[in-house]
Amino acid sequence: MKKLELNRTHLKLIAIFAMVIDHTAWGFVDFMSPLGQFMHIIGRLTLPIMCYFVAEGYRHTKNLKAYIFRMVNFAIITIIPFYVFFHEEYYYRQNIIFDLLLALLALATMEHVAWKKTTRILIVAGLFLVSMAIGGWVVMPIVYVFIFYYSGNFKTAAKRFTLATVVMETVLIIMIILNQQYHYSVYDWTVEERVYLIFFVIALIPLYFYNGKKGSDKIPNIFFYHFYPTHFIVLAYIKYFITSATWQDIYIHAHVISLVIGFFLLMYVLSQRPSRAQVSVTFFLTFGTMYVFGFLLEITAGDVAGAYAATKLQYLALCMVFVAVTYCNQELCHVRMPRTLYCIQAVVTVVVMYYLFTYEENHLFYTGLSINTTAGPFPRLEIEGYGPVFYGFVLYSALICALHVGIGIYSAIHGTTTQKKRLSLLLYALIAMWGAYIIKPLNITNGYEIPALFIPFTAFFITQALVRYNYLDSVTVNFSSALSRGQTGVLVMDRNHKVLYHNESMHGLFGAFKKFDDAFKIPYVEEAFRKKSSTIELDGYTYEMKVEPVLEQGHHTGDILWVYDLTEHYQAYDRVLETSNHDDLTGIYNRRWMENRMEQAIENKENGAFFMVDLDKFKHVNDTYGHQVGDMALIVLASCLKRYKSKLSENVFCAARLGGDEFCIYYRGETTREALSEFSMNLITDYDEELKQNGYDNVTSLSIGIAILNYEKPGEEVRDFGDLYRRADRALYRAKEAGRKTFRIYE
Ligand code: GH3
Ligand code: MG
Repeated sequence: MKKLELNRTHLKLIAIFAMVIDHTAWGFVDFMSPLGQFMHIIGRLTLPIMCYFVAEGYRHTKNLKAYIFRMVNFAIITIIPFYVFFHEEYYYRQNIIFDLLLALLALATMEHVAWKKTTRILIVAGLFLVSMAIGGWVVMPIVYVFIFYYSGNFKTAAKRFTLATVVMETVLIIMIILNQQYHYSVYDWTVEERVYLIFFVIALIPLYFYNGKKGSDKIPNIFFYHFYPTHFIVLAYIKYFITSATWQDIYIHAHVISLVIGFFLLMYVLSQRPSRAQVSVTFFLTFGTMYVFGFLLEITAGDVAGAYAATKLQYLALCMVFVAVTYCNQELCHVRMPRTLYCIQAVVTVVVMYYLFTYEENHLFYTGLSINTTAGPFPRLEIEGYGPVFYGFVLYSALICALHVGIGIYSAIHGTTTQKKRLSLLLYALIAMWGAYIIKPLNITNGYEIPALFIPFTAFFITQALVRYNYLDSVTVNFSSALSRGQTGVLVMDRNHKVLYHNESMHGLFGAFKKFDDAFKIPYVEEAFRKKSSTIELDGYTYEMKVEPVLEQGHHTGDILWVYDLTEHYQAYDRVLETSNHDDLTGIYNRRWMENRMEQAIENKENGAFFMVDLDKFKHVNDTYGHQVGDMALIVLASCLKRYKSKLSENVFCAARLGGDEFCIYYRGETTREALSEFSMNLITDYDEELKQNGYDNVTSLSIGIAILNYEKPGEEVRDFGDLYRRADRALYRAKEAGRKTFRIYE
């Protein structure tokens, strides 16, 4: 029978399933009822499994700091959801992630051997105290994590775990009995209410079947972290609805939920990489329209409540218009706006809306409101005074505008003509938006704000910047999705070499970089840019990089870098080169290669010697022993020469077969008579030796003719390869004449 196996994902799912059952029981089922008890017992599976994974996580983590940081984050995120759900039971005590964080810190401290033992013990003791004071599960998680971490095998861990659970249960029972006598704790539990805690031991069952494997990739780790705070919110929400919601609450919540869903869907659409223009136009026109609609609503409302509601709408839209302006400017000026700026804008929006909604309670936005029916053509909201939040918002608006105007002017000065035109349009748009507020103090508008009249101008300028100057980039986006699929790397940069676009392949080639990063910081890009084209080797592949200008309406606005994978092309080229330069039979270079090499040597006026080596009475070898033996004699010479070559660099020594039984050697270096003589005689004897080893003693031998290349001796310069060849051949002829198996130097 196949043993049941559970992987990490299975165990985590079991843990969260048990947790949901447990928390559902806390929320909706009578604690001491049989069903309640059963659900709480199932719930005991969670904590030990989580502790087990903390011990395992600590052992395997590559980045302990990041691990701790993640735990801290989620412990903080969970504070409010946990409190919302559990506040009656737990008061100031913290959630399970906090407990696990303490355990992780304790473990990391124990293992931090750089610290003194006493220091470590003191810190761990401190963590135990914290856990006792505000931990949700009071020291148990630390003990469990330690047991799982320090037990060599599962059996030992299981024994220790059981013992620890029994001990802690016993201690708890004693404390409860003492508390019933002396009442020192707020938790006035009875013994039977805490019996279920002994069932922590059932968690050993799934852990026993754990196979140590990772499990499904489909559920990322972060899901389990998010699940924890989220399920509290959902359960608290359900509890609230079941117990106390009125119809009006339900209506309000349905609207809020719809807005949240709508917002998330909008964010989802935006995250699917629509074109930049689509995004900025969507933002701008949505919120611009909302803003104008707010003014329309205000003048038609007829009473304070209606007009005030319209005001809230205006402010929300205005806050969002600022975000849209930031986004537009980011795209038009090619600057990466820090995320913090967007966060600040979000926070300001929330704060402004909060104080607008609670104005009557705190008077921090407006100090007083009334309706004015007499001054002007329609009843309108009369603001009696402004609060500090309002002034803060005015300051914020001024700062945001100044920032964008500043960036705009800077980019306009440094940008291309097209960019300049776009940016001036954006500046006009901003001015148009604020013109309304400048006109108001002139009192020609009856004290009424008239931004609605200026918004069309703003929209006009933005649209011009985007449409007229080629900012409608949906076409680009289609291309970009096509390019993303290809092997070819593409990167578009502006004139200041900031990355504007790149496809996925570029990441594969050059690692991580982001939009608006300096493209020259990416390896090889600057060089390719300077040379317009270059060939690079990466991980054994050969790429060609090409740079071409991007022209917009005749202006050079940036450059596009193409990276082609030419590996196969170069491999084929290398193969052709190899066969065209090498001799088939012996594998050493052929005449063509040697001729090129010698032309180069002559041109560079290298000093050296050119040897022509010919086999003696080779025809006779062929005739007597057959062609195969003849071939063998040629191969033996080639392997002799290869051996010589392996000891020296190609620049100093190279050899080739010129044809038939004729070989040659080029040697750069000493060309004294002694050196040449020694070299030649060595070669002749080595060849004899090698032939002998192959079983053909004395069937043939070598004769050598040498031509010296010496540019220090005037009048002896070699003109070309033909000249060199002729000289060596003459010397060879003399060696043959002298009875073969010897050498002669051309003089
Ligand atoms: P010498 O000592 O004067 O050089 O006499 P030799 O017989 O070696 O004369 P020569 O160098 O002119 O002879 C070249 C011979 O090499 C002619 C041809 O039969 C033979 N030969 C040429 N190419 C090959 C080859 O690829 N394999 C074999 N086995 N023989 C070849
Ligand atoms: Mg010969």
